[in-house]
Amino acid sequence: MGMFLAKLMGLFCNQEHKVIIVGLDNAGKTTILYQFLMNEVVHTSPTIGSNVEEIVVKNTHFLMWDIGGQEMLRSTWSTYYTNTEDLRKAAVLVLANKQDMKNSMSAAEISKFLTLTSIKDHPWHIQACCALTGEGLGQGLEWMTMKTVAK
Ligand code: GDP
Repeated sequence: MGMFLAKLMGLFCNQEHKVIIVGLDNAGKTTILYQFLMNEVVHTSPTIGSNVEEIVVKNTHFLMWDIGGQEMLRSTWSTYYTNTEDLRKAAVLVLANKQDMKNSMSAAEISKFLTLTSIKDHPWHIQACCALTGEGLGQGLEWMTMKTVAK
């Protein structure tokens, strides 16, 4: 009975959220996406110009778009926002990647540099991480899941 109820709840609680991963070329976006997938693989469907993967965390589906960071591709970024209500309700997670590198800026330094505290109209969070080992990515995903539940 418990199992049945859990499944029934799952049917109603399943939600899909779109995640757009943007960043400079070489920042580690693709590596981050596939690190997420190591634990939570559902299916893979690569598309031209971007990678799209779906991960499921606690009944919440995240459709993750890793879009090219090269300068010539940045003008196309806004086309990915269309079905996200123009980002009006978007939560912003900044992943301070490559923390294993000696000269990397800390999350606090990046936060100051990007003046993240000036963001008042969207929930935001900065998470230090290393995509090569996966360190910090779990916490980032946890924050994202928490934000979708809180909506
Ligand atoms: P993208 O262009 O943003 O998608 O970047 P990629 O995921 O292709 O990564 C660019 C390079 O950075 C690759 O050689 C990755 O192995 C490397 N890289 C990604 N994340 C890390 C990290 O946390 N630490 C280090 N040292 N290298 C990383």
